Amino acid sequence: MRLNEWFLKETQALAPQLSAFRRDFHTNAETGWLEMRTASKIARHLTELGYTVLVGREVCREEDRMGVPPEEVLREHAEWAKTHGADPEFLDQVKDGFTGVIGIVHGAQDGPVYGMRFDIDALGVTESCEKSHFPAREDFSSVNPGCMHACGHDGHAAIGLGVAEILMRHRDQWNGTVKLIFQPAEEGVRGAKSIVGAGHLDDVEILLGSHVAAMPEDEICDLIPGAGGSLATTKLDAVFHGQAAHAGGSPESGKNAMLAMATAILNLQAIPRHSGGATRINVGRAEAGTGRNVIPDYARLELEIRGETSELNDYMEAYARRIVKAAAEMHDCTLDLQVMGAAGSLESSPELMQAIQKVAPACGLKVSKELRAVSHGSEDFAYMMNCVQAHGGQASFMQLTVPTAGPAHSPTFDFDERALVNGVRAFAGFLLFGGAR
Ligand SMILES: [Zn+2]
Repeated sequence: MRLNEWFLKETQALAPQLSAFRRDFHTNAETGWLEMRTASKIARHLTELGYTVLVGREVCREEDRMGVPPEEVLREHAEWAKTHGADPEFLDQVKDGFTGVIGIVHGAQDGPVYGMRFDIDALGVTESCEKSHFPAREDFSSVNPGCMHACGHDGHAAIGLGVAEILMRHRDQWNGTVKLIFQPAEEGVRGAKSIVGAGHLDDVEILLGSHVAAMPEDEICDLIPGAGGSLATTKLDAVFHGQAAHAGGSPESGKNAMLAMATAILNLQAIPRHSGGATRINVGRAEAGTGRNVIPDYARLELEIRGETSELNDYMEAYARRIVKAAAEMHDCTLDLQVMGAAGSLESSPELMQAIQKVAPACGLKVSKELRAVSHGSEDFAYMMNCVQAHGGQASFMQLTVPTAGPAHSPTFDFDERALVNGVRAFAGFLLFGGAR
């Protein structure tokens, strides 16, 4: 196969800049809906490159945002972003928790509409300061306490900016329209729905996303063209409101929210399994009560449900909703049930995986033997993929395989920065060398 020499050289030359972007985002890690500094920097860079840039409320539909932090947290973090180098003009547009950015560019002639998605949020993890941890050793650890890029989205954001650079520079060499979608709040599967809800995926015919991933045990490769088998999931918060009363003097006049909660917990874990496939349920956090001699008037649960398919997840969710509702009623409490995050299962389109497999070697990428990685978590890129596939388009979730350190979502997670150049090659190479044409 003839290698596209100029492309390999140009993408390799981007390496120092990509790593600088990645390290800057890593240092200034921001969690979901608070990616104010990150989003403002991305918007500024895309504007300078000449993209048509959508920011803030244009990108995320307000009603479809899930798990947005309380107002005072948003306000406080906007101050943090301001003193940590956020772009003032764009900060103003994203500061209310509308932290998505889309860059649009047209190629030489009319053609398909491509969507390329890059998630940008960090996690509520305190980063390791051990010198064995690469970011600590190289002095780009997070300066935002309790907040860390422990899943590689700092790299994803950097890859998006690299792709932006190459596609703009060579816009005379490809046809169609590209939307570069920088998505907030992937963690907790909270952000993608709001971008789909705003209609940005409605005209997308070919959709690509990626994630950095640990190298498979039995093979050295740079890219797995697709993924499937991720679990559909729903994250719920259930708040029970009762009536406080003196536990000795008049317990009968109380309404015990803690009892309602406890009844709910035991029954949630006891939902019968489904013959149609794997399901999961977990109540991960519970709080209730104010003191030993007071009938608890308040209780709160954080739970999540998962299913091998969206239908299995729906079965679990309907059952769980019935249980918390009935448990509240049993003890004469009221219930406030909120969806904090949700995603369907995802499955890469076979034709698109094959097209990626075909074009990637000429872009300097060694493709895995298996076309499709099996995912065991949940990923809200599913919202976008399902939307595109539902109207007849093709979508794939590529895996950028590199050596990694520490488990994902842990204080010592890190990935080999080779993933950055590889990521740019995978996205930009697909467009330039005609994977889908
Ligand atoms: Zn991730």
